[in-house]
Amino acid sequence: MPQPMQTSYRDLSCGDARPEHTGRDVSLAGWVHRRRDLGQLIFLDLRDRYGITQVVIDAAESPEAHAVASTVRSEYTLRVTGSLAARLAGTENPKLATGQVELRAREVEILSPARTTPFPINEPDAEVDEAVRLKYRYLDLRREGLQSRILARSRLVRAIRESHHEAGFVEIETPLLIKSTPEGARDFIVPSRLQPGNVYALPQSPQQMKQLLMVSGFDRYFQIARCMRDEDLRGDRQPEFTQLDLEMSFVSETDVMSWVERMAIEVSRAVVPDRPLQRDPFPVLTYRQAIDRFGTDKPDLRYGLELRDLAEVATGAGFRVFDETVAAGGRIFGFAASGMGVATRRELDDLTRFARRFGAKGLVWLALEEGGTVRSPIAKFLAEGQAEALATAAGAERGDLVLIVAGDDIHAQEVLGRLRVEIAARLSLADPAVLAYVWVHQFPMYGWDEEHGRWDATHNPFSGVIPEDEDLLRTSSGDPFQPSRSDPAGQARALQYDLALNGWELGGGSIRFHRRELLSRSFALMGHSDEAQREKFGGILEAFEYGAPPHGGIALGIDRWAALLTDQTNIREVMAFPKTASGSDLMLDAPSPVDPAQLAELGLMVKPPASADQAGS
Ligand code: ASP
Repeated sequence: MPQPMQTSYRDLSCGDARPEHTGRDVSLAGWVHRRRDLGQLIFLDLRDRYGITQVVIDAAESPEAHAVASTVRSEYTLRVTGSLAARLAGTENPKLATGQVELRAREVEILSPARTTPFPINEPDAEVDEAVRLKYRYLDLRREGLQSRILARSRLVRAIRESHHEAGFVEIETPLLIKSTPEGARDFIVPSRLQPGNVYALPQSPQQMKQLLMVSGFDRYFQIARCMRDEDLRGDRQPEFTQLDLEMSFVSETDVMSWVERMAIEVSRAVVPDRPLQRDPFPVLTYRQAIDRFGTDKPDLRYGLELRDLAEVATGAGFRVFDETVAAGGRIFGFAASGMGVATRRELDDLTRFARRFGAKGLVWLALEEGGTVRSPIAKFLAEGQAEALATAAGAERGDLVLIVAGDDIHAQEVLGRLRVEIAARLSLADPAVLAYVWVHQFPMYGWDEEHGRWDATHNPFSGVIPEDEDLLRTSSGDPFQPSRSDPAGQARALQYDLALNGWELGGGSIRFHRRELLSRSFALMGHSDEAQREKFGGILEAFEYGAPPHGGIALGIDRWAALLTDQTNIREVMAFPKTASGSDLMLDAPSPVDPAQLAELGLMVKPPASADQAGS
């Protein structure tokens, strides 16, 4: 039986050799991971993706092989032929799967030499400058850390594909050269040579196409889809990223959520079998609950620190700021940080600055000392027993610290949500092994866009509305093009659901409008005139006139998922060839200046950047 990894160059991979292979004559091929030259004996660790095998070259046994081996250096690629032998008792290496055996070389062939690498490949923990790692990405990918994460990502994508095929989903590719599908970001555009002056947009997502596939009757679609969004980059963003994109027909919100949940559990078990799920089935929160309890729509449920509504206890207690906030329609929330009652003035000032950075006017704190006294800058304004009453309402016990923010609805909770994450990090409250998935749904359909004086979709412009809120899709003026902040539309809730994992938004989706007139009404509320609708969404609106099934779907970020499953905080760490924060590919040197002949062919002219003039002066 041939070994699965056998090729013309090798009989086994560098990870295959076991005691049962001893006595066999084999060839191995790989990279020199490490070389130890003891004079007559040279030891080479030969490495490939599958493992490391120790090679011994003895000058007395194989003088020619020894002569070659004495010229090789780290990262040369070699083919070594010899016999596999048991290692001498006491020299086995239990850390290597192949550690019981070694290859006694008869012949060493250099397949290709290597320059000294810009960073060591065989020291997984070596700190290497990020820009150097990106420029020499092919070498960084040889290192254990990145290589194992790319392999984990491949297992993730494979598990996703297998689950979907098993459940009857059809894998369909959608084009990259399309018309703009708005997802709230800027498009990357590609000029058309055949139609000068016209452009394609690269997809921000396959949104319209997957919905059209439902109109076509495919019933269940999925794709590992590339999406491109021209946004300013942040830690967990890249200009191009990968989504698991799916869409299903004749489904309700619960149908899509239960499929995705079952699949996410299957996939997590396949990729990281040792990591426990915090809850199965996943908890489901409404957007309102998520905000009021955790101050965010992507709560990390691995720890408590839940917010409490303190308005009732806080008002009429003697502290004017609280009374005025509530009188103006604002909210007062707080939470108890266990054991932090001993916080120093400096730590508290630091937390106050933190809250201000996220827009809070101030941070009120109450420190419950072990002896029972309450320390607080507002203590002097409060009536007898009020500080204790507030602490109790916040769920605090002796030794705890209560943090309180008063402000506008949602904003006050969001500031506390940030503090909650910060405190949990300082106290190391999150178990890094646990996977805490949580659903959040019933989001508001629209958010008021102050600048343009209109409603904007909070998520996806194709999201449908919760049936009992359908009547709310209108303006107070009666004219959809005369919207105002107090329109009923502001109260409408979308059939939108997001999946969060350990405090990150993993993805989101919705049940869509499948009736033309409702979609059109919703577009109008977002300020799209009939003409603009025809121009931007004419294709899908017309398709809905030919019998569209009720449908919905979701997209989950594969980069984020892979990062979370491999304990990374930056998605660059799970992407083979990512870009820098300014969108550059340092390895291929992109973007780069365009050839004038190409521009001429496209009928384009480039205006020199303003800064170039200044740089010259
Ligand atoms: N197209 C949406 C996105 O990319 C996801 C969806 O609603 O299916 O975020």
